[in-house]
Amino acid sequence: MRQVYMDNGSASPVDSRVLEAMMPYFGKDIGNPSSLHSNGRKAKRELEAARSEVASLIGAQSSKSIIFTSCATESNNLALRGAAMRYKDKGNHIITTSVEHMSVMNPLKDLQRSGFEVTHIPVDKDGLVNAEQIKNAITEKTILISVMYANGEVGTVQPIREIGEIASDSKILFHVDGTAAVGKVPVNAEDEHIDLLTISSNDMYGPKGVGALYIRQGVRIMPSMLGGGQESGMRSGSENIPGIVGMGKASEIAQAELLPEGARLIRMRDRLIDNILKMKYTYLTGSRTKRLPNNASFRFSFIEGESIILQLNEMGITASTGSACSSKTLEPSHVLIAMGLRHEEAHGSLVLTLGRGNNEEDVDYVLECVPKVVARLRALSPLYPGE
Ligand code: PMP
Repeated sequence: MRQVYMDNGSASPVDSRVLEAMMPYFGKDIGNPSSLHSNGRKAKRELEAARSEVASLIGAQSSKSIIFTSCATESNNLALRGAAMRYKDKGNHIITTSVEHMSVMNPLKDLQRSGFEVTHIPVDKDGLVNAEQIKNAITEKTILISVMYANGEVGTVQPIREIGEIASDSKILFHVDGTAAVGKVPVNAEDEHIDLLTISSNDMYGPKGVGALYIRQGVRIMPSMLGGGQESGMRSGSENIPGIVGMGKASEIAQAELLPEGARLIRMRDRLIDNILKMKYTYLTGSRTKRLPNNASFRFSFIEGESIILQLNEMGITASTGSACSSKTLEPSHVLIAMGLRHEEAHGSLVLTLGRGNNEEDVDYVLECVPKVVARLRALSPLYPGE
């Protein structure tokens, strides 16, 4: 049976070129970048080379603005708590959206418990936030705006540059969770007026266990991990050199291949969307135009996303119902609810996230299987009115 992996938004394979670049740093090239001997100095050179690659991918003027962390969740926590704690004497108001990932939602909830006020800006039916609404929510107490670049679940890409201009004009820090977007669409932190940008390694075919935070030169936030003062004192702890080397290589490849790979993914994505939408009672989730190249996500009336996933799994297809992080609960996705869907509508979701490993034959196979599965499940549904 054909095996098709279309859940790259939940976990991506490590690119073989990345793995090859990492391998020496588990063995012969062992060394702590803080050590003075030649092994230590080599590790330091590799650390700085990786930092430059990540900086270049996101248009950072100085590699000094990149801080390596352990994952996107840590970068989001560092950015939000670090900014809130640094500027708490200036104000206690934070603006965000209702479709952020839990690694933004939950630290903000925690900050609310310690006296911060958080405004959640709603999104429209496509999951898009309106920059004007953000502007109107700003008060003299606002110290931080946090908006994700793109939503990995529904694929919608936010008007980041517009929001960045508003934040910059108002002299308010702007954090962007770039996890689902960096390496997939062109991101330029400097031009888009981003002060803090979360970057994930695994979401661009790098290893897990490493991430980064861009901190614009001149922006000061409080560190949360204190210790030996690594990463300019912003994130102590001996650096994960194999992981960081891998993230550097992944960034280099992502930058070199961004445009051709993006175009290839868009062709496959659009074929999935155009054909799956030919089915009755089937809807696209997220924006049709402001959309990640790798995301094709849908909602099918009268059936449950979990049943679709399990039946597709039987046919060799790996897909998702939404955020891997919240699929453990039976709660519908907060993103779909924020987009105005009723609970029963939000339950029938299917998210296909394409990746480097997919080809047109995979798309053919998915287009053959999805209608069969949907028809089979609908035939069993008491709610289904028939064709
Ligand atoms: N932000 C977004 C937008 C995500 O989709 C995810 C999950 N991939 C995260 C943050 C958290 O990433 P991680 O679990 O790798 O820390």
